[in-house]
Amino acid sequence: MKVMKFGGTSVGKPERMAEIRKLITKDDETKIIVLSALSGTTNALTEISDSLAKGDREIAKQRINALENHYQNFIVDLLKSEAYFQKAKGILAEHFEFLNIILKISYSEALNKDILAQGELLSTKLFSIYLNEQEIAHVWLPALDFMTIDQNNEPQVAAIREKLTKLLEANKGTKLFVTQGYICRNAKGEIDNLKRGGSDYSASLIAAAVDASVCEIWTDISGMHNNDPRIVKNTKPIKHLCFEEAAELAYFGAKILHPASIWPAQYFNFPVKLLNTMEPEAPGTLIERDSDSEGVKAIAAKDSITAIKIKSSRMLLAYGFLRKIFEVFEKYETSIDMVTTSEVAVSLTIDNDSNLQQIIKELEMFGNIEIDKDQTIVSIVGYHISKTEHLLAKVFNSLTEIPVRMVSFGGSQHNISILVSHEHKEKTLQLLNKGLFE
Ligand code: ASP
Ligand code: MG
Repeated sequence: MKVMKFGGTSVGKPERMAEIRKLITKDDETKIIVLSALSGTTNALTEISDSLAKGDREIAKQRINALENHYQNFIVDLLKSEAYFQKAKGILAEHFEFLNIILKISYSEALNKDILAQGELLSTKLFSIYLNEQEIAHVWLPALDFMTIDQNNEPQVAAIREKLTKLLEANKGTKLFVTQGYICRNAKGEIDNLKRGGSDYSASLIAAAVDASVCEIWTDISGMHNNDPRIVKNTKPIKHLCFEEAAELAYFGAKILHPASIWPAQYFNFPVKLLNTMEPEAPGTLIERDSDSEGVKAIAAKDSITAIKIKSSRMLLAYGFLRKIFEVFEKYETSIDMVTTSEVAVSLTIDNDSNLQQIIKELEMFGNIEIDKDQTIVSIVGYHISKTEHLLAKVFNSLTEIPVRMVSFGGSQHNISILVSHEHKEKTLQLLNKGLFE
């Protein structure tokens, strides 16, 4: 059995859905197809929800109408026959009626999740109607019946496996299943989700739950590149990554894969492939347990980072100082990416600064605080690069012109991270590319 996940742009146009149809009917291995919402839909639903939260019902209504319009046009091009077109109209009526009803109820977090779930429900239902019109046998699986998260909002593969296995057994003989990425039920049984970009995570969890031979993530680029193709010329797709390398890259910038999707693959040991629907024959990137080589594989950048420096002469010889600092971040549910320390100061970075003001206020009890916003983490990733000869020298020699704010080396054997201000990002990526790859 294999899992194939298609992202928003891969399902975002009727002709793209036709491409997916070709890809999923190439051979007769049993497949679970996981779809995202059509591109732009989750953003639109988030805006609808935001306007409702603010009490702007008129704006919410306009946004619902615009979205409905988009879908009405979509099904005109997707379906040929009147009968299937009417079925699709029925689906739109059902989901947009729901959105119009919520205009009348008061906003809550649970309602927000219900709104956000409409995107994947719509994309998979429309795709299922399209497959029916094309006479392709399949079963539509409701993710809300098997994808669950626990009280800590963590998915548990064992629980997912139990429910999903039952559903698959009830459909013995079926070769093709279509289901929703992103959406799930929480411990209270309410509709919830795996956070933005979470469809990759759904696919990986499903692959773990059914012991899939492979989890294919289909997007619109041919795998992860060894640097940012928008900034650096002649970047190359990376053919092979081990899980450790992929995890570092997915987290530090290479937006092609949701970082959480790596752990199920690593734990249950199945390969993940990153493939391109526009160029299906391209090899893409294969991610699996063993590394094929040591040395630098890729450079990635993560923007909108805030650096915080806590300077305190009291830190000298004090134990427990770091714990007190970290507790502040824990209290405000803010995760820390990079940390460097000297005897009198600690610098660290965060990417979510929504609680920055409170954090600063509490940190001020420990010393003098300096904040640098708009920073970029540039990560150099490769299996065991910490042991690669002359690597640090090459990195620093490449960056003589760049004012580097922080360096993190040795935290993992597979990553060296550098913090620079955003204005130096392009130059940093270009110089590193030249120094490390050319
Ligand atoms: N539709 C969701 C989002 O846009 C999930 C996903 O596409 O992965 O975040
Ligand atoms: Mg995505």
